[in-house]
Amino acid sequence: MKKEIVMNRLQTLMLSMALAASCAAFRSVADESKDQGAEPKVIDPGPSGGRPSDAINLFDGTDLSKWRGDKENSEAKWEVKEGVATVNGKGSILTKEEFGDCQLHVEWAAPAEVKGQGQGRGNSGVYLQGRYEVQVLDCFQNKTYANGMTGALYSKFAPLVNACRKPGEWQSYDIIFHAPKPAPDGKGAVPGSLTVLFNGVLIQDHVPVTGSTTAAKFGGAVEKGPLMLQDHGNPVRYRNIWLRPL
Ligand code: MG
Repeated sequence: MKKEIVMNRLQTLMLSMALAASCAAFRSVADESKDQGAEPKVIDPGPSGGRPSDAINLFDGTDLSKWRGDKENSEAKWEVKEGVATVNGKGSILTKEEFGDCQLHVEWAAPAEVKGQGQGRGNSGVYLQGRYEVQVLDCFQNKTYANGMTGALYSKFAPLVNACRKPGEWQSYDIIFHAPKPAPDGKGAVPGSLTVLFNGVLIQDHVPVTGSTTAAKFGGAVEKGPLMLQDHGNPVRYRNIWLRPL
């Protein structure tokens, strides 16, 4: 047999051995990845814009039975009509249940009739743990300071963009919140984080959450705290509020 033919056969043999070895390696990686972790739980995500089956229904338009008033042992007194809860000057409302890390969905609408300017137009707020406010404000053609705009982590981080719809139109917040935790040594807190989609647009991208925002009801890092909706004197409307503890 000629020397070249022997060499060619040898090369082909080595190539097929290498191929077989890499296939075996790929198979073992694939098998390994198949074995990892428990199978994720099946949930029903619901219709588009609906509530997932594993979420806690905080307000579906029926009543404010999951909420209390601003003062200890007081009732939530916002008006509920035609599936909507409206701020009416009777104080902020807080959930009876307390939460830590969570995914939160809130829909809100600033008054259709434009009144006031800056921070005086359609002001309310979503306070995670009654401490960290995601600002609710009508910033549609309404100037104010950046870290007080719609979707700001109030006084800390401005939103990445202004994605406001016109006043009167329904808007949504989808929030991923990891609460600051009390430090293991008891001194201070381990920062949390906040991600917010406003009308489906990313406006807070995993920003650090440290201390309470200005005008928060409570201070200090806690494992769990109530969700609070702010009464800032403007008749902001709310609907379809749900939360998934993480
Ligand atoms: Mg506010």
